[in-house]
Amino acid sequence: MKKILVTGGAGFIGSHLCERLLQEGNEVICLDNYFTGSKKNIVHLLDKPYFELVRHDITSPYFAEVDEIFNLACPASPVHYQYNPIKTIKTSVMGAINMLGLAKRVKARILQASTSEVYGDPDIHPQPEHYWGNVNPIGPRACYDEGKRCAETLFMDYYVQNNVKIKIVRIFNTYGPNMNPNDGRVVSNFIVQALKGENITIFGNGLQTRSFQYVDDLLEGMLRMMDTDENFTGPINIGNQKEFTMLELAKTILDITGSSSKLIHKPLPTDDPKQRQPDIDLAREFLCGWEPKIQLQEGLEKTIIYFESLLRITKLAKIVLRN
Ligand code: NAD
Ligand code: UDP
Repeated sequence: MKKILVTGGAGFIGSHLCERLLQEGNEVICLDNYFTGSKKNIVHLLDKPYFELVRHDITSPYFAEVDEIFNLACPASPVHYQYNPIKTIKTSVMGAINMLGLAKRVKARILQASTSEVYGDPDIHPQPEHYWGNVNPIGPRACYDEGKRCAETLFMDYYVQNNVKIKIVRIFNTYGPNMNPNDGRVVSNFIVQALKGENITIFGNGLQTRSFQYVDDLLEGMLRMMDTDENFTGPINIGNQKEFTMLELAKTILDITGSSSKLIHKPLPTDDPKQRQPDIDLAREFLCGWEPKIQLQEGLEKTIIYFESLLRITKLAKIVLRN
């Protein structure tokens, strides 16, 4: 049985990861400050004997004897990471230093949840890992993009200088159950708007693209990456190669939900990347033939079922409170 620390474990991806690690027979410490995550995501794990929940902010040091660390703590939605940009950078940079220090001290493997945002608004398409990116260092997305880039630098330096066993995964847009309905990212926004019959907010002309990955495919890639040979550090892209415009995404969600919501256009946020698609050749080669298995239609159907039940419960709770 391995002892595994998951920072950001009460968030969207972290909660799925904690569940999967427990299922596989590990002992899990879930650490979170609940900035964007919620106890609701992991409440069903609280009575498991090998699950431990710790309220902690990774900008402060934390100590525990563990074999592996998955460092996921960081707000990921532009709305939330731009709410307090200085805190976002501190989380990425000081958080990385604290977690790498811990990994060094207890000789743990440590995986960094990096991001396709390190490529910024890419002028190479699709994006391979050797592309250095096109990031505005002083724009509104910089707190996140540059914070994650600096974290990658720290991870590589701890590997070279201190032999810490690091792994870096660059995650492309991932969605699924446990996303916060107020998260602000496009998949959750469109689904919640469609289910409530509200207008679907397309930013800009809606022709910008993203490649959406279902959370289960990401978990499989991350877990395989953690188990790779000690000298294989990454960075490695993990994402689904199928690329969609935001208009296509909106239409697919309207079709599945049967909603009659109208599309409305809002201004495109500053520095919003025009296109994004992972080159996943490296993942195919080094992660034992890993491939994303769940395509958009199927993944959206699962996610919509989750949001439908969430919204139903919220509606019921409001009625009970009113009466
Ligand atoms: P999320 O916002 O749902 O989860 C982040 C979690 O980290 C939350 O539970 C939050 O409360 C916690 N957190 C934030 N700051 C913290 C701090 N200072 N100390 C302790 N906990 C803190 O987002 P997510 O989508 O689950 O993303 C998880 C990780 O994956 C993030 O590091 C994100 O950058 C990375 N990532 C996600 C995506 C995606 O599409 N979902 C894409 C690229 C990278
Ligand atoms: N977007 C949109 N409507 C929304 C939220 C987002 O059109 O209500 C667009 C956004 O401008 C971007 C894309 O969807 O082009 C993905 O945005 P998200 O915030 O999900 O992720 P990121 O920009 O970090 O990839």
